[in-house]
Amino acid sequence: MKVAIVGSSKATFNQAEEEIRKIIAVNKPCVIISGNADGIDSIADRIAGEMNVKTIIYPPKTKNWKGYKERNSLIALRCDKLYNLVLKKEPKDMGSCYHHKVHTHYRSGGCWTENYAKQLGKQVMVIEI
Ligand SMILES: [Zn+2]
Repeated sequence: MKVAIVGSSKATFNQAEEEIRKIIAVNKPCVIISGNADGIDSIADRIAGEMNVKTIIYPPKTKNWKGYKERNSLIALRCDKLYNLVLKKEPKDMGSCYHHKVHTHYRSGGCWTENYAKQLGKQVMVIEI
């Protein structure tokens, strides 16, 4: 099972640790697919290492939307299952993630990857942290 863990590059270790440990624990044995960015990507890689799970990292070839889009597409294509960890919004800030109908979190590249994976028929889960 190849499990992609994507999401906010602004997430901190404390915000994401518990959910990522749970994701890996329920999917083991698995391989984690990660995108080499700050936040969720690097936290997932670190926790996978601690839990003796291998990570396949897909870094972007270029640091612009073209590169990120190619990288995100590849993650969506290669995974069997995808988890998108997004940062929960305060009620006063709700209303601006255009990827999702319920605007309760800050949008990130993970939302794009999630929608693409969904189009490809992959199993996707959104977790607000
Ligand atoms: Zn979203």
